[in-house]
Amino acid sequence: MAYDLQLTNVYKTYDNGTPAVIDFNLDVEKGEFIAFLGPSGCGKSTTLRMISGFETITSGDLMIRGKRVNDQLPEKRPTSMIFQNYALFPHMNVRQNVLFGLEVKNMPRDQANRKVDEILEKLGLSAIANMPTARLSGGQRQRIALARSLVVEPDILLLDEPLGALDANLRKSIQNELKLLQRDLGITFVFVTHAQSEALALSDRIVVMNAGRIEQISPPRELYTRPCSQFVARFIGSNTILPGTVVGQEDGNVILQTAFGHLTGANRAGVDVHAGREMSIILPAEAVDLVPADVPEDEMRANFGSNAISCTIEKLQIVGHIMHMIVRFADGNQINVEGHVDKYRDRLKAGSRAFVAWNPSNATVIDN
Ligand code: ADP
Repeated sequence: MAYDLQLTNVYKTYDNGTPAVIDFNLDVEKGEFIAFLGPSGCGKSTTLRMISGFETITSGDLMIRGKRVNDQLPEKRPTSMIFQNYALFPHMNVRQNVLFGLEVKNMPRDQANRKVDEILEKLGLSAIANMPTARLSGGQRQRIALARSLVVEPDILLLDEPLGALDANLRKSIQNELKLLQRDLGITFVFVTHAQSEALALSDRIVVMNAGRIEQISPPRELYTRPCSQFVARFIGSNTILPGTVVGQEDGNVILQTAFGHLTGANRAGVDVHAGREMSIILPAEAVDLVPADVPEDEMRANFGSNAISCTIEKLQIVGHIMHMIVRFADGNQINVEGHVDKYRDRLKAGSRAFVAWNPSNATVIDN
């Protein structure tokens, strides 16, 4: 398999001794949209800067299209980078800003002008080509930064929190544009963000980082429904974490002894699960079924096995077609559950007793 981008055992330790990136491994296919997601300081930007060449690599290999580029200068790499503040030149107009990248490469004038026209057209900037950038809106400035990075026809576009400076509505519409543009161009995007909604909406795969290390690399849906670590389970989505001790396995599911009795969840492939191991069931909010307490026990067993925790509906609110509920377990812990009103209306009331139940295949058992 020929990859566009490969990082193999990449480490970065800054001169002051800060270990910013630890044993980073990632293979990216051409045309993939990859997001680096994680809390501030986890090493996302450092990794992106190593790919661009603006930061040196302490050890490991960085390959672009099969060629080791660890020591290649940024301008020699087939990458282009968009910074959070866009770094536009305020004294130049839109066209001059976009042209700049091609002038640096000494491209003949005619050819450069043609390429600039094309990209301005593609990004809907032709009408403002002669305006100074300082007077333009956040969305327009964002698009100019995109045009400037794309006009050089990079193999890989690197984006460092490019939507961070925009307000929520504009962010959403530019997100959509960005995704369409990426599909249209078919080039590889590597995108840094600390906003999970952005990463989930845009990417083919998400690399979740924590304290310099990769926690998990998965497509958005898998990350959401099958977190592999406690960190990911807490950081992504809305999961209930039920700790316990393994007592056995049944039909590919793991049975844990927990504070609520025996509960089960799916085993992840390749995990050695032996009796006595301390593990947790990760139950995504989307997997929770709230069942009224008067449903007969045999019906409950048929649908959910032993996976039912007695609870009380503390609060209940209907917003549009969604019912939001806060439920409390006997140990005092609360979780939020939501579902379509058609499913729950007339069956559940504030103050009533119910069961939090789930199909074991929709929950995942992971290490503590
Ligand atoms: P993120 O992009 O996830 O917020 P960074 O890659 O910026 O994280 O930073 C990772 C770690 O490296 C942090 O501890 C940060 O303080 C440190 N760091 C970043 N840049 C430098 C630098 N130029 N010199 C020393 N330490 C740095």
